[in-house]
Amino acid sequence: MGLNKKSVDDINVKGLKVLCRCDFNVPLKDGKITDENRLVAALPTIKKLIADGGKVILCSHLGKVKTDEDKPSKTLAPVAARLSELLGQEVKFAADDNVVGPNAKAAVEAMKDGDVILLQNTRYRKEETKNGEEFSKELASLADVFVNDAFGTAHRAHCSNVGVTQFLDGPHAVGYLMQKEIDFLGNAVENPVRPFVAILGGAKVADKLNVISNLLEKCDTLIIGGGMAYTFLKAKGYEIGTSLLDDTKIDYCKEMLEKAQKLGKELLLPVDTVCTDSFPDPIDAEIATVVVDSDKIPADKMGMDIGPKTIELYSDAVKNAKTVVWNGPMGVFENPILAAGTKAVAAALAETDATTIIGGGDSAAAVNQLGYGDKMSHISTGGGASLEFLEGKELPGVAAADDK
Ligand code: AMP
Repeated sequence: MGLNKKSVDDINVKGLKVLCRCDFNVPLKDGKITDENRLVAALPTIKKLIADGGKVILCSHLGKVKTDEDKPSKTLAPVAARLSELLGQEVKFAADDNVVGPNAKAAVEAMKDGDVILLQNTRYRKEETKNGEEFSKELASLADVFVNDAFGTAHRAHCSNVGVTQFLDGPHAVGYLMQKEIDFLGNAVENPVRPFVAILGGAKVADKLNVISNLLEKCDTLIIGGGMAYTFLKAKGYEIGTSLLDDTKIDYCKEMLEKAQKLGKELLLPVDTVCTDSFPDPIDAEIATVVVDSDKIPADKMGMDIGPKTIELYSDAVKNAKTVVWNGPMGVFENPILAAGTKAVAAALAETDATTIIGGGDSAAAVNQLGYGDKMSHISTGGGASLEFLEGKELPGVAAADDK
């Protein structure tokens, strides 16, 4: 996959109309933004385009818009207002129900260099998620240059991140946020400083088949934890009691164990496990646990977290690494009693000198909750997109940007 993409530092936007696809998919409650991290994260690219004298036309999706009734609660109006404050200059909200309508066209027409406008939620148009030609052409007609800074949707081909590039001649560049994701995730997988340790957890093997297989080829050590570890343990011939089992994936796990051996890669599985009698209900309920070796899980017990010996084993592997990628919790971390494994892995990553990359989702939340956020080299902003990167797939939203 070509990862050397043209960025906002490589283009000259002076006097040009720049359509900039951002990720303004922020949580809203009663019309108020409850977490503005995504807006703050988008500022460097927007400021760069302003400073370079571009006419900056921002667009984004916000939530899901299934029917017209969903529209009022999914308007980007609050985002325009807050962005104006954050940027210290007006971000005119060009609100058209069809996104590219009379308001947007007039607003673009009236723009001076360095002005910023925001279009309405791109999902107001049904064709958006189908990468429809008409809406792609309409978006393209507004601008000379396209900049994509929305990593969270990079694994999807939609009008506002892929279709538009087919009808817009000017350069198609990536913004700083996208660049950082490509640099860290892309380089970690394609060109890692070794030893490269990949840690995978989470619920099911089935969700991460391609990630497991691809990372096994790319890394030196693959560490498996979480619910998916038990199918691997079963594949090794162990009894796993009532632990989570993907019984259609036992053969796949056997294949992966053989693949690791053939490639001379280390594949680490839990050597001990924290068990309960049942799944906690509610999930954070106080619950009794026992720690057993992984080959001695009693028939009536359920594996819920990695045990202390496994924590030591995994932490040691991280200590000796130069690059670490982590996706997925080591146990049912929503319950504090079953979160020790996930916490310990987060702590090991925080302490190592290695380049540490957190692949979004639950592990990103865990790292941030524990206050280790600023100790990591990179925390991906896109759960789905980062997983597809780890699968070695070409992401349509990245592929659509020009190579350098
Ligand atoms: P994922 O969405 O695949 O990253 O999985 C995250 C979920 O996996 C979390 O909600 C965890 O509670 C769950 N999980 C982790 N370990 C286990 C386990 N041993 N048994 C059942 N669920 C688990």
